[in-house]
Amino acid sequence: MPHIEEENLPMEPDVLTSSLPHIKQALLFAIEQQKIDLVYQGQNALPSQQLVGMEALCRIGPGPWGDVTPDQFIPVAEHIGLIAPLERLVFKQLALDLPQLLAAHPDIRIGVNLSIRHITAVDFSSFINGWLDALPQSTIARLDFEITETYFQRILPTVIDGLHALRQRGVRIVMDDFGSGQSSLSRLHTLPFDVIKLDKQFAQQIEHPMVYAIVKAALAFAQEFGIELIAEGVETAEQCQVLQALDCRLVQGFYFSRPQPLAHWLTASNAPTP
Ligand code: C2E
Ligand code: CA
Ligand code: CA
Repeated sequence: MPHIEEENLPMEPDVLTSSLPHIKQALLFAIEQQKIDLVYQGQNALPSQQLVGMEALCRIGPGPWGDVTPDQFIPVAEHIGLIAPLERLVFKQLALDLPQLLAAHPDIRIGVNLSIRHITAVDFSSFINGWLDALPQSTIARLDFEITETYFQRILPTVIDGLHALRQRGVRIVMDDFGSGQSSLSRLHTLPFDVIKLDKQFAQQIEHPMVYAIVKAALAFAQEFGIELIAEGVETAEQCQVLQALDCRLVQGFYFSRPQPLAHWLTASNAPTP
């Protein structure tokens, strides 16, 4: 049984619900049984709509407690000190899936989420370096480690050094959910990242003139500094068209694909989803 350490960390109000014990139970079961699933969501290039990447997303259950979504179990895992064992299962499964995914789609990139609570664990560096050591360099060069922006802004100098070291190994660092948290624009230039993932609320509200202007500015910023920008949460053809007209080159969202199990992607082509 993994050791649970209640951390005195702030949590989102929706996590502090009566379902907390039940989420804890689901997490403990998944970790004890080493039973997690990975699903993958495509990332597409514009204007071709070709599949150019995938994001690995963790699922647990269903179990006696019913379905628990990542938005429920990830914050709880972070809060009770279970995120490192959970993400190590994610990385274990990813290592098994990567050869098959890259055989079916040789040119794509693969994103995986990394919690800052995991990155700051004392043995993270030895864990991740050991994990990378088992992969060919050609696979390492296809990996994107996604870290949520809210946490990125509070990253300690030692962690920044660790991220630089990962980049030197060939992994790209992605600032996830950009614009959703407490972006400190004044610190941005001190943070090591290669890609920005614009939070889904921007694509979803792009018909609003002010949101449109922010997305346009973010794209100009990314272009000027040679940073890739992925717009997340694209759900409609209209949102896609507006982003394309703004010269946004990379998109992810239900309009192109829902997160799907490995088997789906092994038979799917890189061509645009009809
Ligand atoms: P995320 O990293 O921002 O991942 C994208 C989430 O947005 C996924 O939710 C995906 O299903 C959802 N999404 C994608 N396209 C659309 C769209 O067009 N519309 C809407 N409304 N949603 C869309 P999911 O899989 O439920 O994951 C939620 C969050 O849980 C992730 O957000 C990520 O922060 C976290 N998560 C999932 N797996 C892991 C993991 O292995 N480690 C860590 N630290 N976090 C994870
Ligand atoms: Ca992500
Ligand atoms: Ca995101």
